[in-house]
Amino acid sequence: MPNRKFVAGNWKMHGSAASIAEIVRIAAAVPSGVDVALCLPSTLIERAARAVPGFAIGGQDVHAEAKGAFTGDLAAHMLHDAGASLVIVGHSERRDGHAEADATVRAKAMAAMAAGLDVILCVGESLAVREAGAAVATVSAQLDASLPPVPVRAVAYEPIWAIGTGLIPSLADIADMHAALRARLVAAYGEAGHGVRLLYGGSVKPTNAAEIFAVADVDGALVGGASLTAADFLPIVEAAQGA
Ligand code: PEP
Repeated sequence: MPNRKFVAGNWKMHGSAASIAEIVRIAAAVPSGVDVALCLPSTLIERAARAVPGFAIGGQDVHAEAKGAFTGDLAAHMLHDAGASLVIVGHSERRDGHAEADATVRAKAMAAMAAGLDVILCVGESLAVREAGAAVATVSAQLDASLPPVPVRAVAYEPIWAIGTGLIPSLADIADMHAALRARLVAAYGEAGHGVRLLYGGSVKPTNAAEIFAVADVDGALVGGASLTAADFLPIVEAAQGA
């Protein structure tokens, strides 16, 4: 049986108090057949969680340690305490911009789950790797080295060259990658690997969502720019509902 679709928004470094009204608009219109979450800047998590009780609010990163001298970082229990129910780990903007290795991503995922947060673990290849024909092998190895011992809620395949560029891989390339990642998840977790949501991320828009959701083993999407407004995000959620 196919997994229920899961569409998560990643607001990155966007949003302020005035954005709570947009979050309320999104939460109020979510159809019953899709799981939806918004991963917000830390400054908005508590306000949003109060404004839309029962709707999944997440963070975008977490520290692997529970406390200590880590200026600017947040521990998993702090995100949970603020009202988050999930967190993204291993986004390429963290891996590249903050030099996060696979082992760090794995440790973050373990810390998040220990604090009761669901995890969306991101993997993806650069354009150079894609052009060298090494995307599936590279991303599979990245997943193997990043996965914690207990199944994560979701893995997001996000080709780095597709994020924020308007480019997406061919549907056949998405299918190939998701089949390979599903095999890695089953190798790691046995039957439970089939239940990990495999999300595609990178320039998902209202105009391409339905065709992406129709690809085998695509269980939803991680959406950046198009998650910032109800006008863009809700048609993507509705495409997931209809898939
Ligand atoms: C992302 O950063 O997770 C993402 C998928 O961004 P965008 O949808 O804007 O490409």
